[in-house]
Amino acid sequence: MTCSSRPAPAGPHHLRRAGSLALALTLGLAACRPAPPHGTTSTTAIATPLDPLPAYTEAGSLHQQVSGETILAWAEAVTAMGARPAGSEALERTRQYLEKELQNLGWVTQRQAFEDTTPRGRIPFVNLRARFAAGPGDPWLRPVPVLIASHYDTKFYTDFVFVGANDGASGNAVQLEIARVMASSPAVAQRIELVFFDGEEASVSYTPLDGLHGSRHYARAWREWPRDRRPRRGLLLDMVGEKDLKIEMPANQSSDALRQLALRAAADAGHRRSFGLSNQEILDDHVPLGMAGLEMVNFIDLNYRVWHTADDTADQLSAESLAISARVALLFTEKYLLR
Ligand SMILES: [Zn+2]
Repeated sequence: MTCSSRPAPAGPHHLRRAGSLALALTLGLAACRPAPPHGTTSTTAIATPLDPLPAYTEAGSLHQQVSGETILAWAEAVTAMGARPAGSEALERTRQYLEKELQNLGWVTQRQAFEDTTPRGRIPFVNLRARFAAGPGDPWLRPVPVLIASHYDTKFYTDFVFVGANDGASGNAVQLEIARVMASSPAVAQRIELVFFDGEEASVSYTPLDGLHGSRHYARAWREWPRDRRPRRGLLLDMVGEKDLKIEMPANQSSDALRQLALRAAADAGHRRSFGLSNQEILDDHVPLGMAGLEMVNFIDLNYRVWHTADDTADQLSAESLAISARVALLFTEKYLLR
């Protein structure tokens, strides 16, 4: 299928205004609708019931189990894979590593593979999806209400080595910690889909054909899934581990209600100082998902001094910052997103 739409003007990643992009992305989405994925064509299939969700209690709150050192070790391991742009061997090694870790934590994984056009030519992409193995029925047929996502590709550069410790690995590592902690509460874990998006980064700069490849593909597939099996709400994690952590949740393609609940979750966890709201419109993986109809919120640290430089290395990360992001994400999910 040919996919054509007018490129939007170039601008810096994350920091450009997304207004003109919204229209361009809409055109891109409409022009590129794929066939429904296998096993999801029936709209009458009965979704598997889940174990009943226990009431949230402060004493049993999952966020208390978070280990910053564990998250840091995962972030270091992913960063050590080196530059891992879409289509690279290093990204395949990263994928295998994430699959192995997730499986060890009790989750099943599925690759959502596709090809897309980029300024570097046709590139194969793979979104990595994970669901909790234990519980009733086929995990992929469960009515999972919440999506937790990050991107695991790094931006393609030819003039320096970019390993994306914060811009990439930090979000992946927090997702792994969420997978580890949630495994102790199967009724919670059964209600979550974890997705690691490929191709978030633009090869050159964001246009309808460059960047957000994985989330655009996921959003198109999501529209075809039976309504009762689509995640309704989503949390995106991007750049969540630098020492001077300040998460600012962008306003565009975001739910105001969820942003307020996230602030409440941050306060409940004792980390309100590290969270705030941004008025900026940010182009990130939450945009195609929000446009498709998911109620989204994006945890992103917008003021990262070494963003998209050779200095985005593991020594920029701190175990405590990673723990703060994981605690708030877990408390937000368990206490608010799932209710
Ligand atoms: Zn980036």
